[in-house]
Amino acid sequence: MLNVDVNESDLQEAQEGKDERALASAVISGDRSAIARALNLLEDRRPEQRALALELLIEITGRPESGCAHRIGMTGPPGVGKSSLANALIDQWLDRGLTVGVLAVDPSSPISGGALLGDRIRIRKSGTDERLFVRSIASRGQEGGLSALTYPMSVVFAAAFDIVLIETVGVGQNEVDIAAMADTTLLVIQPASGDSIQFLKAGIMEIPHLIVVNKEDLGGVAQRTFNELKSALADQPQVEGWRRSISSLSARSGKGVDQLVAELRRHFDWLNDEGGLFQQRRHQGQAYCEKSLLGEFGTFGLDKIGGRAGIRQRFETSGAAAFGHLEALRKILLG
Ligand code: GDP
Repeated sequence: MLNVDVNESDLQEAQEGKDERALASAVISGDRSAIARALNLLEDRRPEQRALALELLIEITGRPESGCAHRIGMTGPPGVGKSSLANALIDQWLDRGLTVGVLAVDPSSPISGGALLGDRIRIRKSGTDERLFVRSIASRGQEGGLSALTYPMSVVFAAAFDIVLIETVGVGQNEVDIAAMADTTLLVIQPASGDSIQFLKAGIMEIPHLIVVNKEDLGGVAQRTFNELKSALADQPQVEGWRRSISSLSARSGKGVDQLVAELRRHFDWLNDEGGLFQQRRHQGQAYCEKSLLGEFGTFGLDKIGGRAGIRQRFETSGAAAFGHLEALRKILLG
């Protein structure tokens, strides 16, 4: 998908930030500087830039190419091996000739000195491949879990790459949030951590489509956790018709990673064929639209446009993509 010829004059216009259509084309072609510009535009909170960002998102989501990527959300507590697994997965995808965008949403602040998830991937991969793009978002201080930027950024990534990996530290709400913007949700678990029992109690296990117990190389302890989890989940409900899959692997040795790649793909194919990918993405857009309007105009504003039910009805009766609805509703509320 990358390195497709981009019309030079189009690019020039995009560089001047004047033409959102040209910028959208450059993003879709995989142009790295265009992707960086688009992400910067999304981060800009000035009203004029905000309007431009919305235009860009409308333009991107209006193109058929923008809907093909597989968006994968990966969560799990700190230390379970998410960064290690992300690296192993990225290697496999790149080996298969795919392009990969990673959005690492980190609840820790860059100022705190903790290594950001994205940095841990970038350091290991530094300079290795033009087909990999990594971006960190520090979500600390953001209300309601994942940063409000994650969804729009994932849309830009989905236009540019074959695979979009959204990685975050899972602490309850983040699992819910990530499921609201990914096609496939993957939960990573540590052997003998007791996390699985806690997650079961909290209902978190109902969210992911795939669950992996990492560190299989630790032997018996990993095997026990895997067996316990498997029997505990046997009577858990399916996720919208999909039978949740559980596997055991080692990000360190690489054992089982190719099966996970295949399983991720199997879920995406299933969604495409019979699982209602279109419907799922519409719900994601609707959730984002609601959240954005709530953040900007509060419950009072939301009530003026018929509340959640009003938004839902709009999405159900008109085929427009989320950002078009968002723009129209903002215009109504701004008078
Ligand atoms: P994250 O915090 O979830 O991103 O976890 P990391 O990827 O940073 O890994 C946390 C620790 O677990 C590091 O010391 C890794 O070397 C180690 N680790 C990751 N994957 C494996 C694995 O498959 N086996 C073993 N034994 N250790 C692992």
